[in-house]
Amino acid sequence: MKARSLTRREFLASTSATTIATVTSPVLPLAASVTRTAGKPAILGGEPVRKNRPWPDWPYIDDQIVDAVVKTTRSGIWCRIQSASGTVPTFEKEYARLMGSRFCVATGSGTQALHTCVEALGIGPGDEVITSPYTDPGTIASILSARALPVLADLDPASYQLDPDDVERRITENTRAIMPVHMMGQPCDLQRILALAKRHHLVVIEDAAQAHLAEYQGKKLGTIAPLGCFSFQSSKTIACGEGGAVLGDDEALMDKCYTVHNHGTNRAGRTECIGPKYRMNEFEAAVLLAQLAGAQERFERRNRNAAYLTSRLKGFPGLVPQKLYEGTASGSFYLYAMSYQQAHFDGLDRARFLKAVAAEGVGLSPYIERGLHREPWVDHIAQSRAYQKMYPAGRLRRFREEMCCPRCDQVCAEMVMLWASGPLLGSQADMDDVADAILKVYEHREALRSI
Ligand SMILES: *Cc1c(COP(=O)(O)O)cnc(C)c1O
Repeated sequence: MKARSLTRREFLASTSATTIATVTSPVLPLAASVTRTAGKPAILGGEPVRKNRPWPDWPYIDDQIVDAVVKTTRSGIWCRIQSASGTVPTFEKEYARLMGSRFCVATGSGTQALHTCVEALGIGPGDEVITSPYTDPGTIASILSARALPVLADLDPASYQLDPDDVERRITENTRAIMPVHMMGQPCDLQRILALAKRHHLVVIEDAAQAHLAEYQGKKLGTIAPLGCFSFQSSKTIACGEGGAVLGDDEALMDKCYTVHNHGTNRAGRTECIGPKYRMNEFEAAVLLAQLAGAQERFERRNRNAAYLTSRLKGFPGLVPQKLYEGTASGSFYLYAMSYQQAHFDGLDRARFLKAVAAEGVGLSPYIERGLHREPWVDHIAQSRAYQKMYPAGRLRRFREEMCCPRCDQVCAEMVMLWASGPLLGSQADMDDVADAILKVYEHREALRSI
């Protein structure tokens, strides 16, 4: 407990002075004003906390982005191989520089970036990769596309991140890599995962698809392990529709990533290995380059708003914000996530809570409803002819039997989140709306049980 509150204080110390003042106050910060939370709940016919005020839009659009796409269209350079100074090679240089990494290979999606890494490391049939059940399907798709076996380890239910102890328990003689995910754009327990990977001679691929610009122990997420992957899909905090990137410092390994993502053809034009065609196109990079201009400012604004929202909910037992690990300096705040404590709402269930908060004009929602350990792919691959040829029957049987992650189930049942790419770009008053809607529903929890 001690370590946890310290981490949060350190985290908040990196934000504005006003938030620190609020947070260190021993008084429970409840409603911004009593009148906002005392009235009848909107779902029972009262006035909503928030009315007719739109949230900031996402994806972010400005004239610079529109002009960049028009310029690329007119240039006739639509594909990266047409020009060494086109938008894709330029974006790769700029993104690597911004993130503090030596090399970048841009891809058509985050899933493609991850699969590129798996292939570049020579991971394939017979090999196992340990990752989280609480993630985007793209994470395991990248392992399955290489016909390796995704082994899912359970979570730390307070951080929604991989539990390093459970990862270690699931290592076999065929494990080749760990693919930790930085959920919500907050660091997973990376220090411990890197240490156990070293002990067991495993490579680490960071799934930083949600974690643009976030910092941990003085480095940006996605640049700490030998390879890190990002997504620029529309919903992410830097976005171009569909896009992705691999970052790394090892020149030979990053050249291999280039070759793999370029249908196995290297920079010198020799086709030398297995590889899909995963090149980013020039329009996607044009959008990204134009968007990088304000990305740091938007990242800082999300962090300030998140710290303020956390300070507003400090001491409120009904919703507990995501636990952050020691060394967390900032998060991307792709999602602002909290655990719903039904007992503190006197039994008001999560679905009714969410309905009542929505009626107040604030959209909170569950995130992943079922962990990937509960999806049909598990049976599909265990029964597939290809996997039965590549893996011993006993291994596939154990794979199915051990596909059990009760703490992930708990997280799926408890978690509520504000999708934050757009909304956390709002004002402090917008954050007050979120906190007050939550607190208003809390005050009326008895009456809302029957909705
Ligand atoms: C979005 C996401 C991916 C996949 O990225 P795409 O660009 O959608 O393919 C992988 N992992 C995580 C954690 C993600 O959030």
